[in-house]
Amino acid sequence: QAEKIIQTSNQFYSIPQLELAEALVENSDLDKVFFANSGAEANEGAVKLARKYGRLHRNGAQSVITVLNSFHGRTQTMIAATGQPHYQEAWKPLAPGFTNVPYNDFDAMKAATTDETCAIMVEVLQGEGGVNVPTEGYLKGLREWCDEKNILLIFDEIQTGMGRLGTLFGYQSFGVVPDVMTLAKGLGNGVPVAAFICKESCNVLEPGDHGS
Ligand SMILES: *Cc1c(COP(=O)(O)O)cnc(C)c1O
Repeated sequence: QAEKIIQTSNQFYSIPQLELAEALVENSDLDKVFFANSGAEANEGAVKLARKYGRLHRNGAQSVITVLNSFHGRTQTMIAATGQPHYQEAWKPLAPGFTNVPYNDFDAMKAATTDETCAIMVEVLQGEGGVNVPTEGYLKGLREWCDEKNILLIFDEIQTGMGRLGTLFGYQSFGVVPDVMTLAKGLGNGVPVAAFICKESCNVLEPGDHGS
């Protein structure tokens, strides 16, 4: 591909981009793909989508709940999402709009949910804060809670996606489908390719809302 063309303006589609999007949609339970350059940017896009969803469908809710020991990237916004103080200390003030609660603690997630909450974002299995496996029923509980509250469930699959847990996407190993999933790392295998992928039911982004 590099011999043909490396980069096209995001004003245009390209055939390989469409083929990859189609493969991701056909092999997942999700419907719409937006490509990005890195995992952190894919997560930024997912959070922007969730905030727009909150603005349109949840009375303007703009906050995202994440968990401790998580890792979501190193942009100024994603270090606020990343629930590890040592990644946050040097870069304060942190971006507002994120709450970090203990991992595998469903009651803490419920208690942190307010009218301001538009999304819950977790890795299906933590990879950077240790190899931390969700307790039985945790992800399913989050799915049901999000459905009940009309909150988007975002799975950061930047590390667990593309076969790393044995299934193509990690969520397939746990039988819990997110509203939005982010991919990077293994998606490009060294080439800077990432994506956030959503269900049609929360596909609120329009042309011009976001670029890459
Ligand atoms: C690596 C990683 C990121 C950040 O991806 P970059 O491509 O380094 O920006 C985000 N989330 C998880 C779970 C990761 O493992």
